[in-house]
Amino acid sequence: MYIVDFFGDALKELLQETRDALRSNYLADDRPWVVAFSGGKDSTLVLQLVYELLLELGDKAVKPVHIVCSDTRVEPPNIADYIHTSLQQLKIHAKQCRFPLFVHIVQPTPKESFWFNVIGKGYPTPTSSFRWCTTKMKIKPSRRVIDRIVKEHGGVIILIGVRKSESSNRAKTIQAREYTSRGLHSHEDIPDALIMSPIAYWDTDSVWDYLFTNNPAPWGIDHKFMLNLYRQASGGECPVALDLNTQSCGNSRFGCWTCTVVREDKSMKGFIDSGATELTPLYDFRNRLRNDIRPNPSMRMNQRRDGSPAPGGKGPFTPEARQKILAELLQLEVDTKQRLINDDELAHIQLQWAEDFDTRGTLVFELAKKYGRNIKQLEGDLMEIQRDKRDELLLELAAEHEINEQWVYELMNLVVQKYPPSNLLGNKKALVRDVQKVIEHAVTAAEAAEQ
Ligand code: SF4
Repeated sequence: MYIVDFFGDALKELLQETRDALRSNYLADDRPWVVAFSGGKDSTLVLQLVYELLLELGDKAVKPVHIVCSDTRVEPPNIADYIHTSLQQLKIHAKQCRFPLFVHIVQPTPKESFWFNVIGKGYPTPTSSFRWCTTKMKIKPSRRVIDRIVKEHGGVIILIGVRKSESSNRAKTIQAREYTSRGLHSHEDIPDALIMSPIAYWDTDSVWDYLFTNNPAPWGIDHKFMLNLYRQASGGECPVALDLNTQSCGNSRFGCWTCTVVREDKSMKGFIDSGATELTPLYDFRNRLRNDIRPNPSMRMNQRRDGSPAPGGKGPFTPEARQKILAELLQLEVDTKQRLINDDELAHIQLQWAEDFDTRGTLVFELAKKYGRNIKQLEGDLMEIQRDKRDELLLELAAEHEINEQWVYELMNLVVQKYPPSNLLGNKKALVRDVQKVIEHAVTAAEAAEQ
């Protein structure tokens, strides 16, 4: 069988214990397994040990194993390529072996995506104290899959690659948990989910030793590529997040290329210094988002989305700032010849802008077109519904306030057709004059009707 001898007696013993624990847990019940895979060394080791178990069990490997990996849609391109290649090879190999192994690469929905929230809704880019991204881009998409598996099978066991020696906090958390006799503990947020941490007692050297003594992985991926990524990035990875207790991405990790949580993106810098100069424009754009755009009060509103005050420009990005960020992102696509925002995200941003400030509901499409993107109105029907709803509401309000609806429509057309936000600059006086005219006509008509 594929498995090369491991170094040192202590490590051999640890490996044997880990394999025994995996085997006995796999065979102990019918609960499917979910391996939380990030592409980093720890979750790769867990995946490899699980896969080796399936190989060892052969025909007895009947219990489903699901691999859940999150792709935030803003992964560094080199990491995304590596993970997709590795999982594709795994899928093919598992199919050949007829293993009940299922790969789920989970992504945020367009409305959970980074760009929808930053450009569409104007959320300030994430910081350690406002880390909205993890829930939207990682936890929710992973939970959708896990919840589905739990619903189907009544329970699940999630295998994660946490290790005691990662940090003293991690060690304390591992120590403080209550474990079942099989070494599992309950998940705090997911009912009917148990957690297994098969490599909790492995240290970093042992992880690397094992991966390199048993390289390539049984499904064919060469770990040297991952080692190089680590060497270049000189750090760890943004962990697989299944709940908010997951430690924040540290100071040096593989994370989203847009991540503004860290002061400096050491991993991207490392990749660039090691020759991946094609990542420089992305790195510069992230720096601009973090250092120029986010802290600039003139790009932020003085009011939060819920209407509460946010003095000193602490609110969401202004409509102008959102248009600027989108324009710069689309320009970045042209410069790098890479797709950085998808059509469905753009279509949803358009809907959000229509709700927030773009009364004609076309700004995103117009902007995208300037940069060579022809966005279909994927949600065209929704736009129609939105317009119908708006007209309905206006009619209701006009009746409630006893105002002739004709004048309401005329006023609305002024701001929707004649003076949309994109045409307002320098035209405010003209708008006020036209509004006055409509009101004067309304008054004259009302007086004439009374005579
Ligand atoms: S890498 Fe940064 S932006 Fe991405 S999920 Fe982690 S904290 Fe959020």
